[in-house]
Amino acid sequence: MIILDGNKTSSEIKDEIAIDVNKMKEHGEKVPHLAAVLVGDDGASLTYVGSKVRACERVGFKSTLVQMSTTTTEDELLQKINELNENDDIDGFIVQLPLPEQIDEQKVLMAVDPSKDVDGFHPENFGKMALEMESFIPATPFGILQLLERYQVKTKGKHTVVIGRSHIVGRPMSILMSQKGNAGNSTVTLTHSYTKNLSEITKQADIIIVALGIPEFLKADMVKEGVVIIDVGISRVPDETHSRGYIIKGDVDFESVSKKASFITPVPGGVGPMTIAMLLKNTLIARQRKTS
Ligand code: NAD
Repeated sequence: MIILDGNKTSSEIKDEIAIDVNKMKEHGEKVPHLAAVLVGDDGASLTYVGSKVRACERVGFKSTLVQMSTTTTEDELLQKINELNENDDIDGFIVQLPLPEQIDEQKVLMAVDPSKDVDGFHPENFGKMALEMESFIPATPFGILQLLERYQVKTKGKHTVVIGRSHIVGRPMSILMSQKGNAGNSTVTLTHSYTKNLSEITKQADIIIVALGIPEFLKADMVKEGVVIIDVGISRVPDETHSRGYIIKGDVDFESVSKKASFITPVPGGVGPMTIAMLLKNTLIARQRKTS
């Protein structure tokens, strides 16, 4: 069994990005600039945005954190997005989700200039991705593709089962795995909460990508020997023995499933760190597209 090590792989990707940024500096070019908009004071969101800003510093990007209060109106946020769209110095930006309930998430995502949409959530980018055109691939699916590619996991002709159909992970993943090219050419089954006899389907899978948010949902008796497991889930499970009062669990019962798997991502240290690395990669691509 081989661990698909997201810490190691994301670190390599960040080093590659840093080399490109250094070259830009040597040539007197502007370095990529990522902005992150955070509305409200949700603890997990603050942590995620903080990690993204620190990652920018590590690779030599410029970063801007735009913090707005919980009571921000939809108009105020749309105004801010407009400013970021028009600011030539900013190559890409993200709006951290979830947003407070007075704000329509879809309206916000639609307002982002697709050429700066490094999260790849705008319908123009999603549509282009589905049509195999140049776009921004959402960071988490992009990270999963990179893990599969860099560990040379065979996907061609394999049966991939995706569990979960969210717009940011499951749905794009199902499209990408069926596409032509590396880490693609798979036969894909997309499953969700209305899927009947899920175990019968997962037992036929060569590759399982799990993104549903139920800790240790996938058990060993649901998979076949030699399966490749990608665990996207991140859940905080109360644990009094830990100083934080909780531990992070994935959607896979790692202990038992890893014994049958040929490749598996751990949680933490699998898909999570890849997501940030690919956000940086998308920002680098956004900068490069501006100059090419
Ligand atoms: P979501 O929470 O939006 O949706 C969950 C999906 O699971 C739905 O499509 C639902 O149909 C499906 N589902 C629920 N119960 C099911 C069942 N019993 N059988 C089959 N399908 C079922 O999904 P999301 O936003 O993709 O998040 C999923 C998990 O991934 C969460 O734990 C989230 O925190 C994590 N996540 C991690 C990263 C990362 O960088 N590692 C990124 C995004 C999300």
